[in-house]
Amino acid sequence: MNKIKIAVIGAGISGLTLARELQNFAQVKIFEKSRGVGGRMSTRYVEDFAFDHGTQCFTARTKNFQNFLRPFLLSNDVNPWLGKVINIENDGSVSPRFWFETHLVSSPNMNSLCKKLALGLDIILETEVAILGEKQSDGWHLQDKNGNALGIFDLVISTAPSAQTKNLFHQYFTCQEILMQPCFALMLGFKSEWNRDWIFAKVRNNPIKLIAVNSSKFGRKNNVTSLVIHSRDSWSRENLERDQKQIQQDLLENFTQVTGINYKDASYVNLHRWLYALVDETKYEKFFNPNLGLSATSDWSTNSRIEDVWIAAMNLAEKIKITFFKNQ
Ligand SMILES: Cc1cc2nc3c(=O)[nH]c(=O)nc-3n(C[C@H](O)[C@H](O)[C@H](O)COP(=O)(O)OP(=O)(O)OC[C@H]3O[C@@H](n4cnc5c(N)ncnc54)[C@H](O)[C@@H]3O)c2cc1C
Repeated sequence: MNKIKIAVIGAGISGLTLARELQNFAQVKIFEKSRGVGGRMSTRYVEDFAFDHGTQCFTARTKNFQNFLRPFLLSNDVNPWLGKVINIENDGSVSPRFWFETHLVSSPNMNSLCKKLALGLDIILETEVAILGEKQSDGWHLQDKNGNALGIFDLVISTAPSAQTKNLFHQYFTCQEILMQPCFALMLGFKSEWNRDWIFAKVRNNPIKLIAVNSSKFGRKNNVTSLVIHSRDSWSRENLERDQKQIQQDLLENFTQVTGINYKDASYVNLHRWLYALVDETKYEKFFNPNLGLSATSDWSTNSRIEDVWIAAMNLAEKIKITFFKNQ
């Protein structure tokens, strides 16, 4: 019997989870526009520095997610992020902050968990699905942005942000667009060891939202210092279209103001703009149309937490199995 063909758009935690769950029932192909897997759980490497410039850490509150993570915890692919966390005010004053649950990181980098999940899957990298066209009698004919054919599929699942899914699925996508907050990620690399006693700071009343000492996470090089600094949601939106050199300079100066660390001592400085970082709504959307053979999931269908995104992908995979493969 011919297996049904499924195209998954995106190789972040959602797409990889779906593909793993469905691979025994269907012929599953993932298309990913970037050079690697991970999506917003990604890592940028430069010289000795490694920056998790999106997700910093995640928590596990449900039994199912804890069970999923257990083998990765046992193999040290996932580890607790240990150390002191603080609040920093705009004037640089510091107060203690407490994490009331274990904060986890993948090791040696944030994208490592996704790399593990990707093993054995059929993933086409550096390929942006751009055209879906009209559904033909034999299925959806996917094309990249240059019009190259990517194959014919019975079911297409998008894990792109809802705005991009809408562009792709056109009128077939019946959900309202969920607003997403942008975020600027400033990456700073220092050739010396980190010499403060904290690993994570929530910054208050400042364009900077948080400072994460990435080199303090399990499995990273800690003879150098890799810092990731995220801008505050509202500030990111207000400054979205400003010149990125000026954004970088503003964040650098604010970093020095709140920490007292001279940004000029950094040997590596870079800025990444996340246009779609975190969902900005309390209303979420679900999209699964088995008759059309279209579906979508990501944080806009649940919440911008790795655990919730994973649960949403697992639930969608279950629905797909019940709908298409209940006799297998
Ligand atoms: C700055 C930032 C900080 C965050 N912090 C945390 C945190 O600390 N804890 C936490 O739990 N969560 C955090 N999140 C949220 C979390 O990263 C996301 O909710 C989660 O990674 C979403 O996973 P996903 O697979 O659904 O989407 P993504 O990771 O966005 O993956 C979608 C993939 O689809 C690809 N793609 C899109 N369109 C196409 C196309 N047309 N063709 C081919 N490929 C396409 C993209 O390149 C991407 O790789 C953060 C996110 C950001 C950006």
